[in-house]
Amino acid sequence: MSRVFNFSAGPAMVPEEVLQIAKEELADWRGSGMSVMEMSHRGKEFMSIAEQAEADLRELMAIPDNYKVLFLQGGASSQFAMIPLNLLRDKNQADYMLTGSWSKKAIAEAKRYSEVNIVCGADIEKFNTVPDVSTWKLNANAAYMHYTPNETIEGVEFDAIPDCGDVPIVADLSSTILSRPIDVSKFGLIYAGAQKNIGPAGLTVVIVRDDLIGQVRESTPTMFNYEVMAVNESMYNTPPTYTWYIAGLVFDWLKRRGGLSAMAEINERKAQKLYNAIDKSDFYANPVDPRYRSWMNVPFTLANADLDASFLEQAKQAGLTTLKGHRSVGGMRASIYNAMPEEGVDALVNFMADFEKRQA
Ligand SMILES: *Cc1c(COP(=O)(O)O)cnc(C)c1O
Repeated sequence: MSRVFNFSAGPAMVPEEVLQIAKEELADWRGSGMSVMEMSHRGKEFMSIAEQAEADLRELMAIPDNYKVLFLQGGASSQFAMIPLNLLRDKNQADYMLTGSWSKKAIAEAKRYSEVNIVCGADIEKFNTVPDVSTWKLNANAAYMHYTPNETIEGVEFDAIPDCGDVPIVADLSSTILSRPIDVSKFGLIYAGAQKNIGPAGLTVVIVRDDLIGQVRESTPTMFNYEVMAVNESMYNTPPTYTWYIAGLVFDWLKRRGGLSAMAEINERKAQKLYNAIDKSDFYANPVDPRYRSWMNVPFTLANADLDASFLEQAKQAGLTTLKGHRSVGGMRASIYNAMPEEGVDALVNFMADFEKRQA
């Protein structure tokens, strides 16, 4: 078996240890005589898998008891609609920070259901910083304030949790969940598609405070109602059972690695290595304000864009794949989620230095 270091933004790498366990258990899960993908979601075997996964996620993120954890389908993109439908309640105003491509999409969807107040970013052309907090226009009457702590495409990460008084904070953590500890109690709702830092695509984790559930808009589809999903423990219909199982294996792997504080240390070190390599060279550049550089997604450009294709080709030969930047940004992007081993970052840094030397 030969595995590459895959720098894809998503679907992204899954820890090799997890893949090995899944392989061993693929056709016969722990003596059950079945694969997890063949099990009834209501049978005791799968119920135990589902419960353990939730318990482990609660432990990892220290999720308070007054929050529900939902395991849904439809991707983070479905949450762009579910959030206004469920959280607007008797209001018709919502606050959104505009910091990059994903928050922009969330805003476009919210506008179908609500008035949207852009807290900051309306006048930004290139998303490579977060406007200073003194310029933000928060609305105390907003039903909630939505933001994207890590903009996956631009590589902008905003680590501080905004202060919004009594207005519930909603965060799209798709590309940064589990990369470092966060204080869940500061949020009304957190959501994340699984395919970046959790596991395979097809699962969306939603962590929502109890008091925000149950006041959905009348016309909301049943499948989009958090209350229906919460009352039915995410099993109103058939949940994404196999993905849920793999997510559980990833949570267990994270616990064995020392939890989120340990991951934060590793992630910060991995990111620093890569940013240092970029900053010390005139050949590579990262356009993001150093205060808001992402630990997870590192875009960078070559001084001469004509070399992009040969950079990508040679990187691939060296076992470093999917480094092409998002089409809207160009250049390169290295996504270095939890499952990217530190050796993968070391290999990339070495390759970059070599490639630069060969151009001289
Ligand atoms: C990838 C991503 C999404 C979209 O996720 P899907 O699961 O494909 O809908 C939304 N927000 C952020 C921050 C992302 O990185």
